[in-house]
Amino acid sequence: MPTKRRKEPGKAKWLWFVHHPEHCLAPVVAENRDMATVAASALWGVPWRTIAADCDVEKRGEACKHLCARCGTFHYDEEDLCAKCRQFVRDEERRIAIAKRRFYREEAIELKRRELIRDKKEKADAL
Ligand SMILES: [Zn+2]
Repeated sequence: MPTKRRKEPGKAKWLWFVHHPEHCLAPVVAENRDMATVAASALWGVPWRTIAADCDVEKRGEACKHLCARCGTFHYDEEDLCAKCRQFVRDEERRIAIAKRRFYREEAIELKRRELIRDKKEKADAL
């Protein structure tokens, strides 16, 4: 797992904040805007093509190795985020997914309710 091509030496790495309406903020390290959206999709655990068009990418400055992109503390693994922040993103994404499912479920219940009311009204009008 630690053998990723984004760890090439010599290339300038930047810290980016990737915003998306359906995901939590993704602080990522990448050489350019496009690679930042790729890194954000990996962090969120979703396919890149599903998020690329709606990403808002903000350049924050030059990135430092071993400095967490989210909280700024030092850590010694090869990731851009410390373990605590990686866990935070995972938890936040899980919370958003649950909220989204609940929203669609409630939406479906509301549609069914309206349908029943309409049916009842149509029956009453027919009489
Ligand atoms: Zn952190």
